[in-house]
Amino acid sequence: MNSLVNIRSGIRSGIRSGPERPAKELVVISGKGGTGKTSLAASFAALAGKAVLADCDVDAADLHLVAAPRILRREPFTGGKQAVIDPSLCTDCGQCEDLCRFQAIHSNDPGGSAWPATRRIDPLACEGCGVCAWFCPARAIQMTPVVNGEWFVSETRFGPMVHARLGAAQENSGKLVSLVRTMAKEIASERGLDLVLIDGSPGVGCPVIASITGASLALVVTEPTPSGLHDMERVAALAAHFRVPAAVCVNKWDLNEAMSNLIEAKARERGMSLAGRVRYDPAATRAQIAGKAIVEYARDGLAGDLRRTWQGLRQMLAEGDSAMEVSFAPKNSLWDVKA
Ligand code: SF4
Ligand code: SF4
Repeated sequence: MNSLVNIRSGIRSGIRSGPERPAKELVVISGKGGTGKTSLAASFAALAGKAVLADCDVDAADLHLVAAPRILRREPFTGGKQAVIDPSLCTDCGQCEDLCRFQAIHSNDPGGSAWPATRRIDPLACEGCGVCAWFCPARAIQMTPVVNGEWFVSETRFGPMVHARLGAAQENSGKLVSLVRTMAKEIASERGLDLVLIDGSPGVGCPVIASITGASLALVVTEPTPSGLHDMERVAALAAHFRVPAAVCVNKWDLNEAMSNLIEAKARERGMSLAGRVRYDPAATRAQIAGKAIVEYARDGLAGDLRRTWQGLRQMLAEGDSAMEVSFAPKNSLWDVKA
C-alpha cells in the first residue's frame, strides 16, 4: 500500500517501496527566512547518525556551508519549457505577441536588412504557458525544455546528502524540491537508513508545500517576536491543511520570554507539540564562521538545548506521539494562511 498516511495517529509511515520499514521524514521549516532553521537542521544532522540529509531550500540553499558536501553525482534539473520561434517559418503575423499575457514576445524586425521581419521571445519573461505555440498559424513555435538548475548527491561527515541549486530567476522550485526529496528517500531505502532530515523552504509558497507534503513530522522554527508568532501560525495552518503533524521550537526564546510563552500557547491551541526551546547564544555565529554545526562547536548552553530538542523529536518520530495530532478544525484551513 502506498503513501500510508495515518492522519489521526500523528506520525505518518511514509511511502513503502518494499517490505522494509520506510524512512521517516522530518522537515524543518519556518514562516520566513533567517529564523535559524538551517543552523538547527545542521545540528540535528550531526546528532542524527543514520540519516540522509535533503536541502530543500532550493531557492537559497545553505546547508552545504556547514555540511561541506563532497559531490558524487551532478545532474541538470529540467523543470519547465520555454517557447522558441523558428524564424524560417515565422510569417510575422503578430498573433503570438497579441496572445502572450506575459509580454514575452516582441518584434525582431532587423530594419531594412536582408532578413525578413519576425518575432523574438524574451527568455526571462516567458512563463512557458504554451499559448503562442498552440495558436501560431505557421507552427513556427516549439516548446523546448529549459534547464532550471542542478541537483547533487553528495557525501558529508553527517551522511549522504541530496541538494540542489536553482538558477537565477528560474521557476519550478516546487518540482526541484520534490525531486530532492524523492532522491533522498531512494538513498535512504538503498542504504537502510531510517530517517530523511529535510531542511525545508521558508514561507508558505510552492516549495514549502513540496517540502512538507507527506512528511512524517514538520518542525516549525520561529523567533519570539510578533512576526514570529504570525509566521508560525501561517506555516502551522499550512501543515494542518496538508495533514502533516507539526511541532514548534522557539529559537532565541530568552530574548522575549513572554512572547515565547504566547507562541507556545498558540501552538498548543493548534494541537502542535512543543519540541523544545533554544536559547540565544553567540556560539551559533561562531560555529557558522567555523563552518561547524553548533553541537560540533559547543557542548553546553545552546548545544545542550539542541540535544534535548533532538531527543524530543526522535521520540516523537519513534512513538508517533498522539499529542502531535493536528487539529483539522476549520480555523486551521488554508484560508487561515494569509499572504
Ligand atoms: S504567431 Fe507564429 S507566425 Fe505569427 S508572428 Fe508569432 S511565431 Fe510568427
Ligand atoms: S509560452 Fe506563453 S509566456 Fe512564453 S512566449 Fe508563449 S505565450 Fe508567452
